[in-house]
Amino acid sequence: MTNDVEVAVVGAGVSGLCAATLLAESLGDEAVLVLDASDVAGGYARTDADDGFLCDRGPNGFLDKEPLMFMWINKLGIYEQLVRANKAAERRFLLKNNRLIQMRPPPGFLLSPLLSVKGRARLLCEPLIKRKPNNKPETIWEFAARRIGPEAADTLVGAMVSGVFGGDAKKLSLEHCFPRMAEMEREHGGLVRAMFAKKRGGSGGSAMGPGGALMSFAGGIGTLTDAAMGRISNRVRLRHRAQKISQTKTGYRISVQGKPDVVARFVVLALPAHAAGALVADLDVEMGSALGSIPHAPMAVLCTGYREEDVGRDMRGFGFLAPRNQDKRALGCLWSSSIFPSTAPEGWVLLRTMYGGYTDPQALKLSDEELLGYLANEIHPLMKIERTPEFVRIYRHPVGIPQYMLNHGRILETLEAAEQRHPGLVLAGNAYRGVSLNDCVRSGFRASERLLEQRV
Ligand SMILES: Cc1cc2nc3c(=O)[nH]c(=O)nc-3n(C[C@H](O)[C@H](O)[C@H](O)COP(=O)(O)OP(=O)(O)OC[C@H]3O[C@@H](n4cnc5c(N)ncnc54)[C@H](O)[C@@H]3O)c2cc1C
Repeated sequence: MTNDVEVAVVGAGVSGLCAATLLAESLGDEAVLVLDASDVAGGYARTDADDGFLCDRGPNGFLDKEPLMFMWINKLGIYEQLVRANKAAERRFLLKNNRLIQMRPPPGFLLSPLLSVKGRARLLCEPLIKRKPNNKPETIWEFAARRIGPEAADTLVGAMVSGVFGGDAKKLSLEHCFPRMAEMEREHGGLVRAMFAKKRGGSGGSAMGPGGALMSFAGGIGTLTDAAMGRISNRVRLRHRAQKISQTKTGYRISVQGKPDVVARFVVLALPAHAAGALVADLDVEMGSALGSIPHAPMAVLCTGYREEDVGRDMRGFGFLAPRNQDKRALGCLWSSSIFPSTAPEGWVLLRTMYGGYTDPQALKLSDEELLGYLANEIHPLMKIERTPEFVRIYRHPVGIPQYMLNHGRILETLEAAEQRHPGLVLAGNAYRGVSLNDCVRSGFRASERLLEQRV
């Protein structure tokens, strides 16, 4: 017995749900079948509403700079539920010597104690640094050290990389993780020059990160995947773990653990890379090993709630990142209820602290008590909290965030060639061209467009 369908989408995270809803819109619901191993759809993008708190299991927002994200949100009919991060959340902090220091844009930055006087002087030389003379792949740290100096690379850039990717700036590829920074140097000769050029051109952003405001939904980021699921729930099969994919005369056959096979003319693989790699290992060895070679950074997220009066610190701000040289296990702590007030009941504070990452996978093995111990020792003193949290939710993501290493360009070339060898099979997801929700939505649009082109 088999389930025959025109398009099978494997994986019901943001990427798969985006591709599936777009394909269902073009081809009709009956043409699409979504398979997911889990008992709930949404992948990382899920929110738990509990005791008046909203806990995002993975992502807590997206930047308002990707038109395709807004197009999808409009299609899902949830535009009215969007919320923008509080203005106060523009205040971002960095941990240095057990103090939280506000990050200020220049010229205020020059007075900030985040860097030594020598470090600040070196950073000021950025406009004088020549373009990279060759196309040799460069890590984020190498790029930053070359342009703004090793101290700023360790302190500012290293913290940002562990905050966004849970990654190691000395290992990750600049070109694939922060393509905009590489482009700024290529096109304008440097970061400061690029910022001035952009200001003249009227577009925002800074060299340190993408411009834009952080957005979510009144009910948390899970609103996005819940709405997508609502659109096609009759076409989603949960607890369906795909095990193997093989070629047929007209398309592909997907074996599903303990369930009938699914036979489809077209397949979107919207899975974590290693899971996609295991699925195609027999179909295409080269593709399977390229997918399996993309490393991941495991992450643990602690959502903890406190009465407002138990938090002694001024809570106006986004939260802070902890550079790796500051002797803290936490990667950073977001002040969720300051960013999006609807995430905590009136009179309460919700914090979201991250552990793990590429350099500390062992953190995922810690028990809840041990993680809460680190929180009490490292984070509570900084927040002037003396009591244990009254609300706790802990999420562990053993796969976590994919890491684009220096060989990522070659991996992408291999995967593009494999997609060409297997017409009708398309990859989507966070492992290829960006890890953010915006990137995942772009990958969903790409997958849907590619399949529709091949269909005619
Ligand atoms: C802790 C954390 C915080 C983050 N914060 C942000 C943020 O604030 N902003 C932002 O933009 N991005 C953030 N990200 C990144 C972003 O959340 C992810 O990149 C994105 O959600 C990935 O979506 P996806 O659909 O590609 O994959 P996933 O969400 O991983 O979905 C893949 C799906 O495949 C299913 N699956 C796996 N194996 C199989 C199989 N064999 N058969 C069938 N189904 C299978 C899984 O059950 C899952 O549902 C964060 C990520 C993490 C982990």
